[in-house]
Amino acid sequence: MSKFLNEKYQNLEVYVPGEQPQDMEYIKLNTNESPYPPAPSVIKAIDQAAVSDLRLYPDPECAGLIKKLACSYGVKPENIYLSNGSDDILNFAFMALSGFWGKVYFPEISYGFYQVYADLYQLDAVKVPLRPDFSIDYKDYCGVQGMVVIANPNAPTGLALSLEEIRKILDSNPDQVVIIDEAYVDFGGTSAVPLVAEYDNLLVVQTFSKSRSMAGARLGFAIANAELIADLNRIKYSTNPYNINRLTLLAGEAALDAADYYQSRCAKIIETRAYTASALEGLGFTVLPSLTNFLFVKSDHMGGQQLYEALKAKGILIRHFSSPKIQDYNRITIGTREQMNVMLDRIQEILRQDTSADWLNANTSKNRKDR
Ligand SMILES: *Cc1c(COP(=O)(O)O)cnc(C)c1O
Repeated sequence: MSKFLNEKYQNLEVYVPGEQPQDMEYIKLNTNESPYPPAPSVIKAIDQAAVSDLRLYPDPECAGLIKKLACSYGVKPENIYLSNGSDDILNFAFMALSGFWGKVYFPEISYGFYQVYADLYQLDAVKVPLRPDFSIDYKDYCGVQGMVVIANPNAPTGLALSLEEIRKILDSNPDQVVIIDEAYVDFGGTSAVPLVAEYDNLLVVQTFSKSRSMAGARLGFAIANAELIADLNRIKYSTNPYNINRLTLLAGEAALDAADYYQSRCAKIIETRAYTASALEGLGFTVLPSLTNFLFVKSDHMGGQQLYEALKAKGILIRHFSSPKIQDYNRITIGTREQMNVMLDRIQEILRQDTSADWLNANTSKNRKDR
């Protein structure tokens, strides 16, 4: 830390992204990326892009892409804001939309960035516990004194609130912004976008990173009442008006032209998710019912850290979170069927190995003591 860093940032606990190791080829099931390439039309658009145009700034209004998104989602262009990844929208929302109380409510177990943004803007973070089954109780967010942020479906649990429950949260907080982070909605969830017409306090956030195979392009968008969108633009034009680069704009438009391609990839992931869930259950895992492109699972044989390490040694990356309430769990991104089969084979190998026997013994004696 240099002597120049403003005091208010000196204790920041930064977000730790899932590892992107460069040392060898892993099967990467740790950051919820798509196993499929972007649509052929996207690849073509980039291949044929006039790279010499990179000397020019991109359109700060992103008019072409916004028009297409508006068409796809049945809203008006003034209801859409585009950003350099949806993290950027969350950043702006925490910066500028937390309202009178300076407080923000989000689930205790959720996307790790919410806490980081709360700290960055010195907001009071109210971390609301989940129910014992990891579901969100919508009542905890009704009539609260601050902004509400909920990933729906939630990460890393994969569980979702119904639209009726979201409606109740919106109804009871007319003077607070309610952010619904729909990073995973295309894998079987129900979007709150249709509610935007009814609620001026609703900000829906989505991304091209997961269901549209474009994590590397950095493209996110928000759908909300025109006034909220104007607020986000106010911040954008006070920081970086050219927040979407030319190539990403092209890729985004081409992706929207390939709705069928992405629908069929999402359907495949949903199918592979069901297959993987039942295979893991067969191996003694507890598997939460997921509406996302990942599974949140717990082995009855070994701890989460142990499984993470054992799989990494065999060339497969999954995610482990060390916070006590979920340390027995792992989050596994759904890859291709072939990748899932390799992972399932490796897990079986690991379960046969001595380490797990040790863990079993340790646990059996602990259980005996408990009794
Ligand atoms: C992946 C993810 C994001 C970030 O998406 P980007 O558009 O890549 O910045 C936001 N929220 C949740 C819950 C996510 O899982």
